[in-house]
Amino acid sequence: MTNPQRYDVAVLGLGAVGASALWRAAARGASVIGFEQFEPGHPRGSSHGGSRIFRQTLFEGVEYVPLARRAKRLWQQLQQQSGAQLFQRTGGLTIGPAGSSLIKVALESAQAGGFEHELLDEEILAGTYPQHAHIQGDVAVFERGAGVMNPEASIRAAVAQARQHGAEVAVNARVDSIDHEDQGVRIVCGGNEVLARRAIVATGAWFTDLVPDLALPLTIVRSPLVWFTGPDRAAYGPDRFPVFVRKSGDLDGWGITDIDGKGVKIGAGPSAPKPLLDRADDNSYPIDERDTGPCERFCERAFPGLDPVAKAAEPCMNSRTADRDFIIGIPEKAPSLVLAGGFSGHGFKHASASGDVAVDLAIDGATELPIDRFSPERF
Ligand SMILES: Cc1cc2nc3c(=O)[nH]c(=O)nc-3n(C[C@H](O)[C@H](O)[C@H](O)COP(=O)(O)OP(=O)(O)OC[C@H]3O[C@@H](n4cnc5c(N)ncnc54)[C@H](O)[C@@H]3O)c2cc1C
Repeated sequence: MTNPQRYDVAVLGLGAVGASALWRAAARGASVIGFEQFEPGHPRGSSHGGSRIFRQTLFEGVEYVPLARRAKRLWQQLQQQSGAQLFQRTGGLTIGPAGSSLIKVALESAQAGGFEHELLDEEILAGTYPQHAHIQGDVAVFERGAGVMNPEASIRAAVAQARQHGAEVAVNARVDSIDHEDQGVRIVCGGNEVLARRAIVATGAWFTDLVPDLALPLTIVRSPLVWFTGPDRAAYGPDRFPVFVRKSGDLDGWGITDIDGKGVKIGAGPSAPKPLLDRADDNSYPIDERDTGPCERFCERAFPGLDPVAKAAEPCMNSRTADRDFIIGIPEKAPSLVLAGGFSGHGFKHASASGDVAVDLAIDGATELPIDRFSPERF
């Protein structure tokens, strides 16, 4: 039997975060191998459906600002180096009651990051964006640089760039198990084994499968992609309809510009009831009312000009932490692993930076970015 191949870094899972990590590790000259159980850009995880919001008005907290800055720089670099169209600027709105914490933190983060933004008062919001139902007292933070990322194209571009830098890529290769010791990791995949100094675990909704011993408290939430249309389709196109997040009392949702004629993609926010899954492999059952219902009810109340019956829908899912903050870090119990998971429904925009930070940790054992909020030890 031949000795297992040795690498500096192994990346487990090549979705949004893992593909980025693979690219960044290879670009830094590390010997790196990536494993993906399907093909990069597949529709069975958390990173498909043609569009994701990119915004830097981060109502989640100012701690996300450094990550968002690095993410934007890396997405731009990836777009430039690959020549692929990964981002379309549409502008973005964060809509909520004046003085609410949503609006306050969105403003704070835009100011802290120096991101171009503008506070739209109730009258200007209603006059400029009449597509949104008028709710008394609602204002919006408008961010000019926000827009739509193409998730599948971004993942494929990152994997292609990684390959150009010498990364090895194993596709249709499900990692069966990992054996982590202080000195490194042994990865078992379909009867083959490789060794790596560190492994980046970026397996999305499958996160706990490979590291059950770390007992990470993650919930798998089935969260669909649902599209809506109305008679005036141009009103929801890139020139007139920014991506948005809205939390106005119990009205809680988000939406993405109709960039391809398929319709506006609308989702119900975290407060809506969503099916939970025991295992990520259980997510293949067809779309039903539990998926589309909350989105249709949000659409009906939030958009008088749209038909609130879903035009198309696809399953998707999130791996969620209790505090909805990411997990990025080296666990004390397994120092040869870097964890990059639990992206809780808002991870795509930051994925290029999350992957890059995971590589900082894998190669240097530390990163310049402040990541205390994402520590795996906080649970
Ligand atoms: C409906 C919906 C809308 C969203 N909208 C937005 C948005 O607008 N903006 C935003 O920023 N975020 C958004 N998100 C969140 C964002 O899409 C996710 O946080 C992000 O894509 C997660 O990336 P990931 O790399 O962790 O997971 P994934 O992209 O799913 O990658 C994990 C990969 O690991 C692979 N894998 C798993 N186990 C193994 C194994 N054992 N061996 C080999 N490979 C394995 C999987 O096949 C998969 O490819 C949304 C999420 C959902 C569900």
